[in-house]
Amino acid sequence: MKAFCIGRNYVDHAKELNNAVPSQPMVFSKYNTALVYDDKPFFYPEFSKNVHYEGELVIKMCKNGKNIQEEFAHTYFDEITVGIDYTARDIQAKCKEKGHPWEIAKSFNGSGPVGRFIPISSLKDKANIHFELHKNREPVQIGYSKDMIFPFSTLIAHISKYFLIGKGDIIFTGTPAGVGPVKIGDKLEGYIEGNQLIRSDVR
Ligand code: ZN
Repeated sequence: MKAFCIGRNYVDHAKELNNAVPSQPMVFSKYNTALVYDDKPFFYPEFSKNVHYEGELVIKMCKNGKNIQEEFAHTYFDEITVGIDYTARDIQAKCKEKGHPWEIAKSFNGSGPVGRFIPISSLKDKANIHFELHKNREPVQIGYSKDMIFPFSTLIAHISKYFLIGKGDIIFTGTPAGVGPVKIGDKLEGYIEGNQLIRSDVR
C-alpha cells in the first residue's frame, strides 16, 4: 500500500508560503512508517523546532490502475477522510534551499495520521466537499474541494502515469490556507461536513 501526497494544490496555501502555483500536480509520498491510524498521538520529533499541521482530504483507491484516463478516474476511489500532513517546516526550508528531496521533512515516523474513511456516496455535496481542521477546538483550516487547483480526477490521471496505483492506496490531496505550527499538548481534530473523522494529540 502506498501513500501519495500532493503539494500546493490550493492557490491560497501556495500564496501563504510564497510558492508559485504549479502548472502540474507536485507529487511526493509518505512511507508506511509515516502513516498513523486510530487517532494515535503524534510525537513531536526532536530534530525540528517548527512542525506545522496541514489538514487534507485523503481519498482511498478501490481498484488497481495505470495510465488512468481523467474521465474514468472517479471510478477508482470511493472513500474519503481527513489526514494530517505534518511537516517539519524548518527542515523543509533547508531541503528546498539545497534543491534536495523532502522526505526527511514530510515522511518521518508518524508524520501522516489518517482518519476514519467514509464512503463518498454518503456525502451531501460530493462536488464541493467541505472539510475543517480544528486546533484546540478553534477552526484553523476550512477547505472546499472545489478550490483544489487539480481535482481528484486530474491527480489520479497524473499519478497513474508514473506509478501503478493499487487498491487501498491513498492520496493526500493537498492543504488549503491556514497551516501553522503545533506544540506539545495541542489537540487537532478533522471534520468532513461536520463529522469528526480524525483526532491527533501532539505529545
Ligand atoms: Zn500537504
